Amino acid sequence: MEAAPVCNETISPEEFPKPEQAHRRSKASSGKKDAEADIELLCKAVPQIGKVFRVIDKIGEGTFSSVYLGEAQMLDGTRQKFALKHLIPTSHPTRIAAELQCLTVAGGRDNVIGVTYCFRKEDHVVIVMPYLEHRAIVDIIGSLSFEEVRLYIYNLLKALRHVHQFGIIHRDIKPNNFLYNRKTNEYALVDFGLAQGTADTQIDLLKVCRSTLRGGGSPATPAPTQRTKPAPTGGARSAEPSHRTKQSSTTIPAPNPPNPHPTASTSAPLPSPVAPSSSSSTICRKAVPKRRNVTAGSTSRSKHSKELSGLRKLQRPVFGERNMNSCAQAPSAAKASSARTEFVKVAKAEDPANRRCVAGRGTAPLRSQGANHKPPRAVPPSATCSCFQTDRVCNICLSRKQQIAPRAGTPGFRAPEVLTKCPNQGTAIDMWSAGVILLSLLSGRYPFFKASDDLIALSQIMTIRGSRETIQAAKTFGKSIVCSRELPRQDLRVLCETLRGRRPSPDDDHDVTPLNPAHGKTKTLGETPSHCPAGQDDRSDCKPSSKHPDTGDTQAVSMETEDERGWDRVPDEAYELLDRLLDLNPATRITAADALKHPLFRGLMQQRV
Ligand code: ADP
Ligand code: MG
Ligand code: ZN
Repeated sequence: MEAAPVCNETISPEEFPKPEQAHRRSKASSGKKDAEADIELLCKAVPQIGKVFRVIDKIGEGTFSSVYLGEAQMLDGTRQKFALKHLIPTSHPTRIAAELQCLTVAGGRDNVIGVTYCFRKEDHVVIVMPYLEHRAIVDIIGSLSFEEVRLYIYNLLKALRHVHQFGIIHRDIKPNNFLYNRKTNEYALVDFGLAQGTADTQIDLLKVCRSTLRGGGSPATPAPTQRTKPAPTGGARSAEPSHRTKQSSTTIPAPNPPNPHPTASTSAPLPSPVAPSSSSSTICRKAVPKRRNVTAGSTSRSKHSKELSGLRKLQRPVFGERNMNSCAQAPSAAKASSARTEFVKVAKAEDPANRRCVAGRGTAPLRSQGANHKPPRAVPPSATCSCFQTDRVCNICLSRKQQIAPRAGTPGFRAPEVLTKCPNQGTAIDMWSAGVILLSLLSGRYPFFKASDDLIALSQIMTIRGSRETIQAAKTFGKSIVCSRELPRQDLRVLCETLRGRRPSPDDDHDVTPLNPAHGKTKTLGETPSHCPAGQDDRSDCKPSSKHPDTGDTQAVSMETEDERGWDRVPDEAYELLDRLLDLNPATRITAADALKHPLFRGLMQQRV
């Protein structure tokens, strides 16, 4: 291939050291050895990568991609770092092309990562992006100042406003996908692997995915070609999409600067196999739930992430699944645990939320175990079965087909309309996820919600936002929820300050109940929030903790230090914005454009951050 311009410079493949040189040195840990082996496989699978880049390390691994750090020597003699995202070979071409198109059309501005190149050899695709050095939020959350949090959210909202302007719903907004370099104050929204389009999306290839989702059929069954995770690079695959053409190494230079008005010609970053067709659409649709399953189990995604989670064991979610069954946990989690939640049919198909919703018709009522494709008005719930608005599900309802609605994303960040499988979902789902991030940052707890089951996730939301309010909001988008007990809405400032250890918890004097021998003891819950989050043991005294930058040791943070970071004077505006982001009703939830105008960001609007 020929070198393509990178930031107005040209890289010359001949000048680059061989990739093997980069990882020849012996490394002690098996993780490093694995990374080296993966790098070797990557360079074998896509030899051009090794000619252009010195592949330094593996920096991320998910079920759908592995990300490497590569360095290229530019013509002017400087060296530049790049992130090389190697997509799993079984990813559907349309899905890959859609991800690339999001990057080429919307990337490179407003805190959205750009794309520099794309390499393809046969079924291996490597997306080359500018590299942004960053640390995982879990490692820095305990040491962030309020001002840093304010800027982080401001910059996230800027990225969201930008992608939403293009009709892109990101669908996987979480700190792992919003990179933050604390030293340089740089931010980057990454990972459009789950993105979908709004009704008027400017991303042509997202229209393909969108129309497919609308087209019916159960998204619950992944395509066989996507069921088995292949070796990270070049390994044997269990199946291969038959429509792929074998082709020699191909490079696709990305437009730079990005084109804000995408046309058909920019819509096909990959060669011929990605042309929208009915067959590719079908697989594209099926790709979604597979991704969902994987992100739900993100803690066990890879060796890499396992190592990281091991290091982070002292940081626990405010809600965990364990506590949902133990009644011995954090802010009213016990209430949620004993509160059974179910969806039941509603008679009305009205959807006031559809102003912002994208995914076509189908406001059919839902129940978690199965749902009905028939318009609810046509079949009154009481006429079809006897379980309407009861806390059980009858056999008739159990035998119904699954409700079709996108559910991709990470459970703890899923909006109520996603959890209740509302088929009409819009950009508001990203705003909810941004709200969960803000809640995490203000409370100093990451992750805040952790659940692998949608109903548990919903009950966790109800614990914070109130069960009556959640039920009320769900009605507006055509869902009915039955909750066996009432959970009061929490005051967000009280909640966050309690979790930060800034307010005494009324539970402090209560009995201490063993929760899990492995994790010491946690306090029994009272009626008001306890500051001791799920699974948090006594060692950290339930105060925010931070990691020593070098040793990784967790240290309790003193109130004085907290005060210096501005946590003693968090303005009401922060909680007001949080309340608007965590609006249970997607139709009234604040948009990114409006959130940027929020008084919390006074003084930042003119600033090009
Ligand atoms: P996946 O689809 O597997 O989640 P992502 O695009 O989210 O892939 O990338 C996985 C991880 O790789 C990110 O969480 C981040 O840590 C790292 N990463 C991705 N892109 C970049 C980049 N441009 N610069 C630095 N690191 C990146
Ligand atoms: Mg990701
Ligand atoms: Zn029934």
